[in-house]
Amino acid sequence: MHEVSVMADLIEAIKKELERYDVVSVKEVYLIVGKLTNLGSEQLEFAFEIMSKDSILDGSKLTIKEEEIEVRCSQCGYEGPVNNMDIGEESHFSVPILSCPKCGSAVIITAGKSCRVSSIDIEEAD
Ligand SMILES: [Zn+2]
Repeated sequence: MHEVSVMADLIEAIKKELERYDVVSVKEVYLIVGKLTNLGSEQLEFAFEIMSKDSILDGSKLTIKEEEIEVRCSQCGYEGPVNNMDIGEESHFSVPILSCPKCGSAVIITAGKSCRVSSIDIEEAD
């Protein structure tokens, strides 16, 4: 499961970030997951639950927000969401091929391919 290794990295990063504060408990962790990451929310939640046990994150809630795919076209200058995801059945690539909704040119993906922590709701010691 890809989600497990992703979550392991995220939890490491979260713990490192929390070291900077006098944390009593962690209430909630907000995660942004791009639609292009192919990461399942349920699998991420499951991985988080397992891996947060016996740590500062034990008992905290994971909230996942999906990020839409956005692109930038260098040909016509289009910037924004893309709907025409062209996923070829016979394609060996897991990453879908995206093209500009306006002119059909190849585009640069600007959003939707990352998985990151957006914020952490903590309770600090007085
Ligand atoms: Zn274009």
